[in-house]
Amino acid sequence: MFTLISLPYAPTALEPVISAQTLSFHHGKHLQAYVNNLNAALPGSEFEGLSLEEIICRASGGVFNNAGQILNHNLYFTQFRAPQADAAPQGALAAQIAKQWGSLEAFQMEFVAKGAGLFGSGWVWLQADATGALSIAQYAGADNPVAHGFTPLLTFDVWEHAYYLDYQNRRPDHLKALWPLVDWRVIEKRYGR
Ligand code: MN
Repeated sequence: MFTLISLPYAPTALEPVISAQTLSFHHGKHLQAYVNNLNAALPGSEFEGLSLEEIICRASGGVFNNAGQILNHNLYFTQFRAPQADAAPQGALAAQIAKQWGSLEAFQMEFVAKGAGLFGSGWVWLQADATGALSIAQYAGADNPVAHGFTPLLTFDVWEHAYYLDYQNRRPDHLKALWPLVDWRVIEKRYGR
């Protein structure tokens, strides 16, 4: 059985970029529904007792979609903290971003452009391969780096439920406004180098 993660910050901590109302629906309704759906599908199936990552690598259809969305949202919600004006990566992650993109700003511009340009619902990701090389990937629906053999580092949710109450159709503005909320210490730990 999977359980709904607790948020590591207060309901208003991410305002005004992510309002308490958006957070309440996104975490308490959308993510809770994915958890409930997966828990209802698992008993008696070949996926019972497996981790989310194992399910994602083996399942298809509804089981894949619900397991993927749980993993995606768990990584999404736990990568944020209250806004910080000068949020930036350090150490090996900062060095790798500088090596591949030249600057954090150039990386952020490509990341937002790929999130804004993803047609329909999905996620834009920063992912790492086994050598530590980074890439920005667009995945539709519940798809994610784990299903493709990559390590997931950072993700922005571009499903409309993630921003519509606060930004309506202005997805690019929402994505740009998320940067001060990113807790780069969490992303560095996921990178693990
Ligand atoms: Mn979502």
